Amino acid sequence: MFKDKVVLITGAAGGIGLEAAKAYAHEGAKLALVDLKNEALEKAASEIETEEILLITANVGKEEDVKNYVDRTKEQYGKIDIFINNAGINGQFKNIIEQTKENFSNVFDVNVMGVFFGMKYVLQVMKLQKSGVVINTASNGGLLGAPGMSAYVASKHAVIGLNKTAALEMAEYGVRVNAVAPSGVNTEMMRSIEKNAMGDKAEEARAQFEASVPMNRYATAGEIANLMLFLSSDKASFISGSYYRIDGGQGAT
Ligand code: NAD
Repeated sequence: MFKDKVVLITGAAGGIGLEAAKAYAHEGAKLALVDLKNEALEKAASEIETEEILLITANVGKEEDVKNYVDRTKEQYGKIDIFINNAGINGQFKNIIEQTKENFSNVFDVNVMGVFFGMKYVLQVMKLQKSGVVINTASNGGLLGAPGMSAYVASKHAVIGLNKTAALEMAEYGVRVNAVAPSGVNTEMMRSIEKNAMGDKAEEARAQFEASVPMNRYATAGEIANLMLFLSSDKASFISGSYYRIDGGQGAT
């Protein structure tokens, strides 16, 4: 489905990014993978069966790193067809009255500035091409509140706002911009959230979180990747500025 398409993915060494990379490679895409963690990125790449792959270590919260990963992808492949703007962190659990500026800033640097910088530079390429698709990874935390997660929740609400605005600004250039909004996904991030919530009773936290989902489980990273594939395919040619809940029914409660 994506033969010879160039797909740029941030947070590609982690759960959702890596599954997305595998899924696009399976469909014939050429990959540019970005992550903060060099070793993890190399390990992730060794799990992907693809003919062409470019690995770039970068901090998405640093504008010069973002400009560099976009320039290198363009240099290597001459174009960027699909951008999975996905890297994110959850930060520390703190109620608002205990929240710190430091935690808030750390989360915003990655989740908001990273998404903003990524679109700022990738959309310049797509505007000239007059084609392209961006998928921003938001969260159900971008649609709802979550006690203790004010920094994360505020950052993901910001992603939804950036997503809508970018879609409006780019529609006339043939560029579509959409977001996915998962609830709990079975990745390292969820392990960190479980620990944040209940310390050494992380297993209990997991059971509680999963029980709060009508389908009684976390999503797999592959299920999120499938939604990304659909939204970035020609089958979604009239979808832009939207966000998609993927949450086992949780948002309907
Ligand atoms: P993960 O922790 O498994 O992977 C995240 C990856 O992003 C890691 O490889 C990490 O090294 C990388 N990363 C972190 N900070 C970075 C930075 N500054 N620059 C470059 N790379 C950086 O998490 P995941 O579950 O795969 O999360 C991916 C996205 O999905 C995030 O935006 C997250 O907020 C979102 N999300 C996750 C869940 C969930 O339950 N796991 C739910 C909703 C949304």
